[in-house]
Amino acid sequence: MSIIVCAQCGHALTAELEKQKTPPADRDLPGKPYVALGTYTTGHNHNFVLHPEDLKGAERHPESRRWDGCCGPSGLDGPNLICPGCQAEIGTQESDCWKHFVATLPDATEMREQPSTR
Ligand SMILES: [Zn+2]
Repeated sequence: MSIIVCAQCGHALTAELEKQKTPPADRDLPGKPYVALGTYTTGHNHNFVLHPEDLKGAERHPESRRWDGCCGPSGLDGPNLICPGCQAEIGTQESDCWKHFVATLPDATEMREQPSTR
């Protein structure tokens, strides 16, 4: 298992995650999460893509326009999630009517392996 942490201060930002083995077949359906709860996948610019509910340790960006959208934040106005430890912008939640995921910023976050407890 792994968690995603802030690259700047090491603050834990997510629940424990497993790498998603196969992309979900229904990822283009409106309102369906792009990745399943408890998993992550890597995006095309080496960032991480995860389910919004797995993002436990991040805070909302104070600029309210970053949360503009139709049914939820569209993510079109820039990163809307910050690290509570150092206030760095760490990613974008995109939960408008036609999508539902969090994409981290590639340079602001890193994956940390958790020692197995089994
Ligand atoms: Zn931080």
